[in-house]
Amino acid sequence: MISNHPYQNQFAAIATIHHKERAIGPVLKKYLGLSLLCIDEFNTDSLGTFTGEIPREKDMLATAKEKAKQAILRSNLRIGVGSEGSFGPHPYIPFLASGLEILVLIDSLTGNEVTVSHRFDTNYDNLITKPNENIISFLNKIDFPKHSVIVKPEVTTAKNQIIKGINVFEDLVAAIKSLSAYSQTGQVSIQTDMRAHLNPTRMRSLGILTKKLALRLSRLCPHCHAPGFGLVDVEKGLLCEECHLPTSLIIAEIYKCKLCGFSQKRHERNPNARASARWCNYCNP
Ligand SMILES: [Zn+2]
Ligand SMILES: [Zn+2]
Repeated sequence: MISNHPYQNQFAAIATIHHKERAIGPVLKKYLGLSLLCIDEFNTDSLGTFTGEIPREKDMLATAKEKAKQAILRSNLRIGVGSEGSFGPHPYIPFLASGLEILVLIDSLTGNEVTVSHRFDTNYDNLITKPNENIISFLNKIDFPKHSVIVKPEVTTAKNQIIKGINVFEDLVAAIKSLSAYSQTGQVSIQTDMRAHLNPTRMRSLGILTKKLALRLSRLCPHCHAPGFGLVDVEKGLLCEECHLPTSLIIAEIYKCKLCGFSQKRHERNPNARASARWCNYCNP
């Protein structure tokens, strides 16, 4: 733990009905000495659900910030934490599922906002099936019953025909049977339930992301001492050894404080350093 960190012995609030504090709290405590309190009276599902009954109106970052602000408002604490996840095909490898997680910390005293995000492996998946079909290989793949599932009719006009949080095989069989009756195709969709407390893989991801947040918060701005001084950009343009034109190789990392705007170049390459001509668009197009 870092001694004399501004957040040491402070309290932060998180608004969650999915027990995210279990993954996030211990990490903030261990690395920063910051205690996390859970506010469960605010229904975070009102900002959007994974299953789409309530569409998410804002983008992920805005939603995470809104959760952090609600936590501050309802707890009267200085610091709020908000988390938001999104699951689907990987943007570059479409046959692979991936989950993007965002974590935001807002300090209402200073107005400081620190955000981290990461793309994680996930068991996010779904299967179209009907009663009496063998679904064991799918269930093994998503690690059921450690991970819960949702069942809904494949095609239906019936409203609210959805069963969530299933983690008992007999309940799953019964849900497939009862909901197939509402499906115009006679088939149902089984989907991983991505709510954090029902998905240990996601809980693990949240813990790892919190470590990233703690690391970022541990760096104080050299100018105003706000927590969260970190990498925001890189400067490209290392010169080619042959033609001396700029390449796309990195010259320096740019660290910045979101609060006061102070920025600093780090890991700057030696001014005499040159890029190999094989990275040059001119010499090696
Ligand atoms: Zn600063
Ligand atoms: Zn060149």
